[in-house]
Amino acid sequence: MEIERKIVIVGGMACGPKAAARARRCDPHARITIVEQGTTVSEGSCGLPYFIGGDVASDKALLIRTPRYFKEVSDIDVMTGSRATVIHRDSHELEVVNVTTGAVSRLPYDQLVLATGATPVVPGSLTGRDLKGVFTLTKIADATAIVTALGTGTVKKAVVVGAGLIGIESAEALKNRGLDVSLVEALPRALPALLDPDMSLHVEKELAAKGVNLFLEQRVLRLEGDEGSVRRVVTERATIEADIVLLALGYRPNVELAREAGLTIGATGGLSVNEYMQTSDPDIYAGGDCVENTHRVTGARILA
Ligand SMILES: Cc1cc2nc3c(=O)[nH]c(=O)nc-3n(C[C@H](O)[C@H](O)[C@H](O)COP(=O)(O)OP(=O)(O)OC[C@H]3O[C@@H](n4cnc5c(N)ncnc54)[C@H](O)[C@@H]3O)c2cc1C
Repeated sequence: MEIERKIVIVGGMACGPKAAARARRCDPHARITIVEQGTTVSEGSCGLPYFIGGDVASDKALLIRTPRYFKEVSDIDVMTGSRATVIHRDSHELEVVNVTTGAVSRLPYDQLVLATGATPVVPGSLTGRDLKGVFTLTKIADATAIVTALGTGTVKKAVVVGAGLIGIESAEALKNRGLDVSLVEALPRALPALLDPDMSLHVEKELAAKGVNLFLEQRVLRLEGDEGSVRRVVTERATIEADIVLLALGYRPNVELAREAGLTIGATGGLSVNEYMQTSDPDIYAGGDCVENTHRVTGARILA
């Protein structure tokens, strides 16, 4: 009798389910399990700004697949509320903690896939980061919290910190909600990591035409509040009034699980993989926001 291959995948958002679906197509008999610490899987993160802006009417529309769908359609088991805590490479087992009960179990694997994603950067040195009204944006729950705040009717002024893709999409979304929106960027131009200065200029003109107040080339020094709620963003050259603040300062790969297991982490801070997405352990693969990529033009190792 053919021995059933066990494929375990950590992370149930974008890369994890994709890897699971592909594994099922490649091996109809494998036992495939997705381990996700959150309560949902397969969220459409790209639609979050459009939910905030009102183009997407309901958060339900951003839930692309459910655990039940994966089971019924592809015979893929999904364990939500389950955090992978240790990779036992010698015995080929993944240690998993039930985040509600604290119960610990071990899942045997033949191949393990790490799709642990990335976490928004919030500098520990940023005073005021814990004030009410300060948000980051990664999951539906974050967007829902922002939409709920907007629904109170007391939010008139928004400050977005970081003029990267997510910062700009969010600024546009908040503008569409009728807010007075300011966008702060430490570097001298919009989309600094993506565009040359002459192209950034077009983006800046478009933002200005939409009524977004641009504060370029100034770092945020601190967030100030009254009675626990954010009220002002203080930069190197301005003090900007704010009822809500969205920090869009980039993302840091979630590599702690891999690091603890002794897998190689690249100089960028992302997991190091070869052209087959294999980590330094040939039975452990990785993909998505937790890995390093190769820049197609320069050949340099980069984060996505
Ligand atoms: C607002 C926004 C807009 C975006 N727009 C676009 C766009 O237009 N186009 C585009 O290409 N990309 C866009 N992106 C980026 C895209 O969403 C990410 O590249 C993609 O989600 C990465 O997928 P991932 O599976 O690698 O990681 P994630 O989506 O971060 O998922 C990782 C999952 O792993 C889980 N996890 C982590 N550690 C553990 C553990 N130890 N145990 C169990 N579970 C764990 C996490 O809970 C999480 O659910 C956007 C992102 C955001 C936030």
